[in-house]
Amino acid sequence: MEKREELYSGKAKSVYTTDDPKRMVLLFRDDTSAFDGVKVDQLDRKGMVNNLFNAFIMQKLEEAGIATHFEKVLSSQESLVKRLDMMPVECVVRNIAAGSICKRLGVEEGIDLNPPTFEFFLKNDELHDPMINEFHIRSFGWAEPQHVETMKELTFKVNDVLKQLFLDAGLLLVDYKLEFGLYDGQVVLGDEFTPDGCRLWDKETRKKLDKDRFRQGLGGVVEAYEEVGHRLGIKFD
Ligand code: UDP
Repeated sequence: MEKREELYSGKAKSVYTTDDPKRMVLLFRDDTSAFDGVKVDQLDRKGMVNNLFNAFIMQKLEEAGIATHFEKVLSSQESLVKRLDMMPVECVVRNIAAGSICKRLGVEEGIDLNPPTFEFFLKNDELHDPMINEFHIRSFGWAEPQHVETMKELTFKVNDVLKQLFLDAGLLLVDYKLEFGLYDGQVVLGDEFTPDGCRLWDKETRKKLDKDRFRQGLGGVVEAYEEVGHRLGIKFD
């Protein structure tokens, strides 16, 4: 496998083509950003930690029967993935209220959401990822109705698997964002699952161990990600 040209560079990851048109390389950089790129920084070790964290979670999801784009770790900051045709929507499940839902609905951070709630957002930086509903997705053709159903089912299935995995490590999975794409017509989980795209709190103290440490200037960002990783049994070098 040969890495070729950069296809796309996002706020924290870059994507490269390979000699195989059906495979890409994801590079997890040390960059971090929040508030649509308004707050940015470079955090030592973050690329490596997120690459190995993502690999661990994607493998757990595969074991649970959820198709993901992940294939293998190539280096400390790079992984090989299947090339998907991404759908431009973000799927968010919330087990506990935090972040944008608190502002939008005037609810207190920390309340349990029973049953967990689901939201779609449009992937569009210029528009600041507005919340959308299934009718918007259908009317504007952002995804096929049957793929919308599958994305919802898979996002909740991920919740069943990961809520328990994190709970066993003394952590609450507060919320998370997933992105899906099509591979040979099948809906497959793409992008990443790392503490950059989810909220994780210590079960007892409710200490924040995710990107809110960066968003809120709490410090110890990568240290928190590593602590979560260690609790899950991930080995970082
Ligand atoms: N999220 C993400 N990327 C985004 C927006 C949200 O990974 O562009 C994640 C975020 O980390 C959190 C969940 O999705 O785990 C819900 O985010 P929320 O809507 O509360 O928005 P935020 O507070 O990040 O503005």
